[in-house]
Amino acid sequence: MPLRKIATIGHPVLRQVARALSVEEISSYETQTLIDDMIETMRDANGAGIAANQVYAPVQICVICIENNPRYPYKPNFPLTVLVNPLVEALTIETFRNFEGCLSVPNLRGEVERFTHVRVRAVDRNGGPLDFEVKGLTAGTFQHELDHLNGKLFVDRVTDTTTLCTWVEFERHFQAAFVDRAKALVAKFGQ
Ligand code: ZN
Repeated sequence: MPLRKIATIGHPVLRQVARALSVEEISSYETQTLIDDMIETMRDANGAGIAANQVYAPVQICVICIENNPRYPYKPNFPLTVLVNPLVEALTIETFRNFEGCLSVPNLRGEVERFTHVRVRAVDRNGGPLDFEVKGLTAGTFQHELDHLNGKLFVDRVTDTTTLCTWVEFERHFQAAFVDRAKALVAKFGQ
């Protein structure tokens, strides 16, 4: 399966609101191939998730999979999940400060507020309904991917710009404190 090129910040496709897919479109060869390629591309780049507009296809598909992720070693594992036409709804007003990165924003991280508990509704790649809740760091990952489908990047949500940093400086200056917070979240929410 071929890898797709990943769009980087500044390309207009990342600012497009992705288009919903019809049932017929979901089952098409083109969409199924796109999903396979997104999974492959995400894994190759060690991403925790990827949205279709990150590979130049502005349609409502995102993929999430966390398996002992080397980019985000503190993230709990989450099985491969393909979301088509997803909706994410906050189930709380409680938020946490997540330190995010993005395959489309190379070598930059920053702190973003995310809800600690969300409900996810979507259809899967076979058109079957999905409806589940996620919490903690995992909820942050889902909110990040949904933002992509709405043309938003994590940098738009960074309110304290002094937290913006390269990956090297993250490790030097922010990682220890963030990993402590991340561990506390995982202990509280199990995710
Ligand atoms: Zn991203």
